[in-house]
Amino acid sequence: MTRLQKLLLAFLPAHRRADAEAESRKWKIICAACGHATSIWDMGGVRYGATGKSLTWGRCKACRKRGRHTVRKDTGN
Ligand SMILES: [Zn+2]
Repeated sequence: MTRLQKLLLAFLPAHRRADAEAESRKWKIICAACGHATSIWDMGGVRYGATGKSLTWGRCKACRKRGRHTVRKDTGN
């Protein structure tokens, strides 16, 4: 766990921290260029209690291209 994640989770009651981690693992950042998906948790972030879909910009670890990434929750199907 990163320091940022510890800091963010410190604001949540203990029983919700596992939920926040599990939910952060379901949120995926998907590269528009190659389709590579990384979870928010693996990127060192926390996303909890959010819905919908958003866009972010960044560099893809897989193809090394800087560009648009889709952020969406993996519903498991
Ligand atoms: Zn990529």
